[in-house]
Amino acid sequence: MAMTHKCIIIGSGPAGYTAAVYAARANMEPLMFTGEEPGGQLMITTDVENYPGYPEGVMGPQMMEDFKKQAERFGTQIVYQKVTEVDFSGPVHTVKTEDGKSHQAHSVVIATGASAKWLGLESEQRLANKGVSACAVCDGFFYKGMDVAVVGGGDTAAEESVYLSKLCPKVHVFIRRDEMRASQIMQDRMMKQENIIVHWNTETEEILGDEEVTGVRVINNKTKERTEIPIKGFFVAIGHKPNTDIFKDWLPMDEVGYLDVAEPGTSKTKVAGVFVSGDAHDKVYRQAVTAAGTGCMAALDAERYLTENEII
Ligand code: NAP
Repeated sequence: MAMTHKCIIIGSGPAGYTAAVYAARANMEPLMFTGEEPGGQLMITTDVENYPGYPEGVMGPQMMEDFKKQAERFGTQIVYQKVTEVDFSGPVHTVKTEDGKSHQAHSVVIATGASAKWLGLESEQRLANKGVSACAVCDGFFYKGMDVAVVGGGDTAAEESVYLSKLCPKVHVFIRRDEMRASQIMQDRMMKQENIIVHWNTETEEILGDEEVTGVRVINNKTKERTEIPIKGFFVAIGHKPNTDIFKDWLPMDEVGYLDVAEPGTSKTKVAGVFVSGDAHDKVYRQAVTAAGTGCMAALDAERYLTENEII
């Protein structure tokens, strides 16, 4: 009979590693499955300047290496596998990995994160981190004093364009329809900023630049008129997809896939012993520091659960 672990952590971004640090220090001997992108979204981020404790800033991959070392220092066992299936039907939970193995645990911390959606243009990939970003709060500061563009018509696009309008002389917003999906209050806030220029019925054809972004070519999908606009930063804000498909038979989630917590203010899900942290649950803040905070909450909730059930 295979051993039953005290705690399995699924995912290795700031939420997963923070949960691992807390769980390992509480003698829960956590087993972490990193997923297919060890380190998560920070691995495709360059300078991180808003994570407290790094006064000079830090590169995303370096920060995740630091998180990993801290988790390993207290005995977290890290396995470079993707979880393909879970079974939360019994008091002991089962997690299956891509190598075909099954793992059992009394508690599970979900920290699978989310992935930004992209337009799918070749130039977008080529210029990623060279002017193309999916996070204005993370990268907006690098474009202070420069013209930028945001694509999207939801609350994120509205919020990011307002954020950027305080740093940049001009913020072009490309919206593919003649109306926005964003809430009225967010739209009002956006329309109030004189330096936000909204381009309705507009789609991005190409992001321009060889080594870095120098502009963008857009097309009006009604008139078919093409325009080239010089910009230095191109922010894609067309939504995120939480990485929660493997949980859909077991846990409630919203229509996009963000997992619900059963008790607001905790990390508890509907299933006893299963806890959620980070961007798999959070569609509002989505910051490394908030993910780390909820990773801590999930480990503390898991520790209480194991104690109450006399497992540790
Ligand atoms: P969203 O609501 O799904 O909006 C995505 C936007 O991107 C839509 O305007 C959509 O256009 C557009 N879009 C999608 N694919 C596109 C493409 N290929 N090309 C061009 N445009 C494309 O996503 P979100 O704005 O990230 O918001 C996600 C959730 O978080 C929402 O529930 C939102 O209310 C919430 N949120 C709340 C706050 C807040 O309250 N402060 C802040 C951020 C997010 P169409 O409309 O034409 O489909």
